[in-house]
Parts: sequence; structure tokens; C-alpha cells
Amino acid sequence: MRLADRVIDLPESGIREFFELAEARDDVISLGVGEPDFSAPWAARMAAIDSLERGRTSYTSNRGLRELRERIAEHHRHQYDQVYDPDEAVLVTTGASEAVDLAFRALVDPGDVVAVHDPTYISYGPGIELAGGEPLSVPTRAADDFALTRERLEAAGAERADALVLCYPNNPTGAVMTESQLAEVAGFCREHDVRVIADEIYSALTYEGEHASIATQPGMRERTIVINGFSKAYAMTGLRLGYAMGPAETIDAMNRIHQYTMLSAPTTAQYAAIEALRSCADDVEEMVEEYDRRRRFVHSRFREMGLDCFEPRGAFYAFPDCGGDDEAFAAELLEAEGVAVVPGSVFGEGGRGHLRVSYATSMRELKRATERIESFLATEWSVTA
Ligand code: PMP
Repeated sequence: MRLADRVIDLPESGIREFFELAEARDDVISLGVGEPDFSAPWAARMAAIDSLERGRTSYTSNRGLRELRERIAEHHRHQYDQVYDPDEAVLVTTGASEAVDLAFRALVDPGDVVAVHDPTYISYGPGIELAGGEPLSVPTRAADDFALTRERLEAAGAERADALVLCYPNNPTGAVMTESQLAEVAGFCREHDVRVIADEIYSALTYEGEHASIATQPGMRERTIVINGFSKAYAMTGLRLGYAMGPAETIDAMNRIHQYTMLSAPTTAQYAAIEALRSCADDVEEMVEEYDRRRRFVHSRFREMGLDCFEPRGAFYAFPDCGGDDEAFAAELLEAEGVAVVPGSVFGEGGRGHLRVSYATSMRELKRATERIESFLATEWSVTA
């Protein structure tokens, strides 16, 4: 069958490709997946079961159950000082993934330039291209803790960008951005009339200080779509629930696309999400404490091994510098020691020479995996390679 031109060159996800290799062996410790090793909080699962027992198996309103939108708005008001009207400014989506896609389709005209800091999550570039836009890579540096700066935006020529994707806490680096760093980027966006898609899916997984959102910077609320979801904070990846918040007309435009493509987000998951926001703050806190413990462990182990490792402050990834070719390192590590990590270059040129190591796995596995990496470094790999 003849395929549309825009999909012919669409690459396979580099992460998946790597995982198929790892799955072919049964002795592998995987530090590769970007999802929590926990299950969703029990109360949230019970609410899903209860909704099924009550026969709540129909569509919901296109924008999502009103109670859920109210709880989302209340959560953001209370937690992050973001004020959004549940009726006009919140849209419940099938994962944050759908929200990201809708944002591109609602904002991007053919030929529009969308700046994306690099390294970053792999879905943005293809999403922008599918919407007809042109991704513009803005390299960030380990020396700046992988934060986006005005200098970096200017160096990449982002003045000509129509929109900017901002993903902090960041996948794959674990970087977060502070209020003052965001103020600098906000200034650039106001000056050059750049709209922002802020993917804040890891906001709850911030280990030092509070998560800061660019939408709360002066003049930014009206030019920002904030995206979040339940996959990471509530360990609900398989329930596929996310949301977008933004100016009423923008959310309305996204909802019009959503009406024709998705109708409504999964109903069972929406009931689980209401309960998650109602009663599961303690579960989130426990998971965050556990991630924080692992984060410190992994970071200090890499330092002990002599690998240059930026201290991750959010999400659940460490991003050490492997001192050579990241793809060769990941392939040889998998072959020699049965440990799967993701080569940093999968996340853009800026990730070259680094490895994404997920610590969303048990402490026991992390201890075994880091021992194996240490032995690999001692015997198979030279840091100066
Ligand atoms: N954004 C980022 C930065 C992510 O890492 C992920 C999941 N890996 C997503 C969005 C997608 O999340 P969801 O499961 O809500 O679609």
C-alpha cells in the first residue's frame, strides 16, 4: 500500500529498538525503561474497579469528567500556584502524549519553526514534523546543568521560532530549571513572541526545592500550554491519562481536534485519577522519597567509578558522561554484563557521549547493575576511549 510521504521517513523510536535487543536475553538488568517500577496506588486502582462494578463504561464528556477537571485545577492551584478554570482551561487527554500531539496540531502551521532543547524526550521532533512544522534543536550543556538559557536560545537562532517546547524536570537528563532561569527564558519568549508548550509530566518528581512552571512567569500564562499527567507521579502509565491547561481559546481548539480523534479519554482511568488526586498524596510522597534515595545512590556510585555525572534533580534518570561513544558503550555493556541503558544520542546530538540510566527500579537491582557497570569500566572500557 502506498504510504503518505510524511510517515515514510519517520524513524522507529531509538529506545524501543534498543529494548528489543535487551529483551532477547533473559539475564538482563534493565535501567532503560522510562516508567515507574511501582503500581498505581491501591485506592486509585480500587476506584477504577468500583467504576467498572457500577457499569461506568460509557464515554465521558469530551473534555473529561467535570469532577476530575475540578480536582486537576485545584491541585495546580494548591501545589504550583497555577490558576485554571476547570470548564474552559482544562482538557483531559489520553496520556500526556495526546496532549503534546494536540498542542502541536493546534499551534503549528506548515513551515512553522518549533524550538526544542536538546537532549530531550524523543517524541517532540516527530510530533512537530507530523504537524507540518520544523523542529529547531537548541543544544544545552552539562556545564549549565542542562538548563535552557537565553544564550543557548540565541546561539541556535531561536528568535525565529514560533513555539518552544520546554520539558523540565527533563527526560533524559534529570535537570530542573529554577524560577530565575525560567524568568530568563520567559523574557526571550515575550520579546520574540514565542508560544510555549511546557511538558511538566515529571513535576511531582522534583527532589530539591519546588517545581517551578514557566506559566507563572509574568505574561506567560496566555502564551503557554501546560501539560501534565498521571503516568509518572501516580505510576499509572498503562491507564493512559494526562491533561493540558492553557488559555480558553487554545484549549477549545485542542478539544475540537480531540473530539474528532479521541472523543474522550479512558473513562475507567478518569475515575482512578479522581481518587489519585483525592487521597493519594501520601503514596506519591513515599514514591518520591524512594526515588530520591536511589537518585543519591546512583549519582554517588557513578562518581565513585570516575564517571562525570551531573546531579539529577528531577524525574528518575541519571545522565552520566561515559567518556566515549555512547552507542558502543551501551551495546558493549549489554553484551558483556547484561545491563541495559539507553545511549544518550537517542535524545539528540546534545546527549552524545552520555547514557540515560533510569533509577525507577529497585535498590537491589540498582546495586547489582552498578557493580556490573563498575566491572565493565575496569575490564572492558577505558574512560579515555
Ligand atoms: N513526556 C515526557 C517527558 C515523558 O517522559 C513521557 C513518558 N515517557 C511522556 C510525556 C508521555 O507520558 P504519558 O504516559 O502520559 O503519555
